[in-house]
Amino acid sequence: MDLHTHSTVSDGELSPADLLGCACDAGVELLAITDHDTLDGYAQASSINSGCELLAGIELSTNWRSVGIHVVGLNISPDNPVLLEGIRQQKSARADRAATIAERLEKAGFPDTLAGAQLVAGKAILGRPHFATYLVESGQVKDIQTTFRKYLGRGKIGDVRENWAPLGDVIAWISAAGGHAILAHPAKYKLTNLKLEELVRDFRAEGGHALEVISGRQDSALTGRLARLAKRQGLMASAGSDFHQPSPHHAGPGEIDPLPQVCKPVWEAW
Ligand code: MN
Ligand code: MN
Ligand code: MN
Repeated sequence: MDLHTHSTVSDGELSPADLLGCACDAGVELLAITDHDTLDGYAQASSINSGCELLAGIELSTNWRSVGIHVVGLNISPDNPVLLEGIRQQKSARADRAATIAERLEKAGFPDTLAGAQLVAGKAILGRPHFATYLVESGQVKDIQTTFRKYLGRGKIGDVRENWAPLGDVIAWISAAGGHAILAHPAKYKLTNLKLEELVRDFRAEGGHALEVISGRQDSALTGRLARLAKRQGLMASAGSDFHQPSPHHAGPGEIDPLPQVCKPVWEAW
């Protein structure tokens, strides 16, 4: 199974149909398409007949003590009005952010990047990679790496913080839609052990259900540490590749280690 993947409706490279096909070919039997702040991938793939069971999922962005945190929602009912209103809020937070990035790039001497980046993004939700691609394709910056190093990376002018809904809200939307809220890739936030423990405690206190104990390729020491953390905090465990594109450097769909014995898998609750 693979409970965390991305398609072209957010920042993935495969269409929802191709993602489903690729996962099936890899032997995945239970797949969640969890695009950033949208259910459109699930909507596009759910009618396809394949050997693979598809779960409705989403990856919602939120802020916790001004740290950007991701919460995956799994097995949600995709037409729940509370969740849909939440997604609408996230979309407008993202649009406001894109406009701010464009304003700042304009001040730095790059006019009209909003329209250009939107052209790159197509129907996908606009993010920094689209601005980067536009700046390179329009010949204004020599390569993607340089765009991030000088303009879009951490601490640069294009590093604009979104006004995401608070942690408790996104968990509540997922719960309202009958789903389970998973704290995604806990090691990616680069928190100290103490801070991570606090985040996980707050996540649970706000009604969160599970910790993503396995995210893509990771070493077994980290897996063990996260499995113990989940158990200590009374959370179930989830696992996913966080697949974005076929690449030798990242896990493909389903290419993840099994959960340690000590974990209580979230899918056993379904
Ligand atoms: Mn992503
Ligand atoms: Mn994420
Ligand atoms: Mn993800």
